[in-house]
Amino acid sequence: MIKFLDLQKINMLHQKEIEQKLLETFRSGWYLLGEETKLFEQNLAGYIGVKHAIGTANGLDALRLILRAYMEMGVMQPGDEVIVPANTYIASVLAITENGLKPVFAEPDETTFNIDLTKIEESISQRTKAIMIVHLYGQAVFSDALQNLAQKYNLKIIEDNAQAIGAVWNGRKTGSLADAAAFSFYPGKNLGALGDGGAVTSDDDRLAKTLRALANYGSETKYVHKYKGLNSRLDEIQAAVLNIKLQYLDAENQKRREIAEFYINNIINPKIKVPAWPAKPESHVWHLFVIRCTERDRLQQYLTDNGIQTQVHYPIPPHKQDAYREYNTLSLPVTEKLHNEVLSLPISPVLTQEEIQTITEILNKF
Ligand SMILES: *Cc1c(COP(=O)(O)O)cnc(C)c1O
Repeated sequence: MIKFLDLQKINMLHQKEIEQKLLETFRSGWYLLGEETKLFEQNLAGYIGVKHAIGTANGLDALRLILRAYMEMGVMQPGDEVIVPANTYIASVLAITENGLKPVFAEPDETTFNIDLTKIEESISQRTKAIMIVHLYGQAVFSDALQNLAQKYNLKIIEDNAQAIGAVWNGRKTGSLADAAAFSFYPGKNLGALGDGGAVTSDDDRLAKTLRALANYGSETKYVHKYKGLNSRLDEIQAAVLNIKLQYLDAENQKRREIAEFYINNIINPKIKVPAWPAKPESHVWHLFVIRCTERDRLQQYLTDNGIQTQVHYPIPPHKQDAYREYNTLSLPVTEKLHNEVLSLPISPVLTQEEIQTITEILNKF
């Protein structure tokens, strides 16, 4: 059986280094807000090319905290609107509604799965305060026109960079393109911890200071609480693992690119639509390799029967979920069509050439 994602194999690539560091961290007796986290924040800020990186407990918290910080800073108020791609993981939307803000769903571009940059302006209203972009499946989405739009309407741009760490747009890394960015180190992400973890990056001093306090019980000085904060910290063990794995991220992303290129060149079944190879390969880190098929469910069953695990990202868009009943009647045809057709194939730095070949051959026989 070819697994969708073999996390054990992925982490075993760095077994010696990780095991030694885990033991060291365990023996240090210091488990939160210590040297490893501080070092990881420096490493991440340096890697992304920003002034600040702040560790959080997970990616959802990173997103929530960015919006919460903007609210504490008076940039937005409850009831204000945030434009968000309709085609995203629910976390992007949860971060908005948890802060009492209103999500305004924007349709994707069918060829990239990412928010259609040409259609954002029509979603802007008097109450719009931010645009949340999601670099979905690992592909950077940005443009000078988007930046101009934000300037024209005085909007913040927030990057949900949970899936695209290491992607480069016009010489700059995702996570450094806009006002603030959220990262996830969920084990299955391109830079995965051994549990939950997240981070926020930004060049904005005030945002960074506010957010760091919010993530630590609203406190800048121990037992003095400026905000009704939360507890959302990256722990020392996760930071230690991430410090090791960050060194290999570019090489592992390159491996994903090679697999994606092989799939694109060799899957030739007319029933299957493969994603486009991006004009700038560095703009995509292939967190997921997503094909489209109008007979998606039958194709998935066929692959399962042939020993290939796949997943659907995602089967139900946020606006069709029970959690968002108030948006269930919205019609977002591009998003809804994509959700019925997408299928994610195995892709990871440990997938072998033989496995990729087998997957391709079986797909071509469907
Ligand atoms: C994984 C993910 C998140 C949430 O990250 P967690 O660490 O699981 O909380 C947010 N947005 C997107 C697009 C994601 O893929």
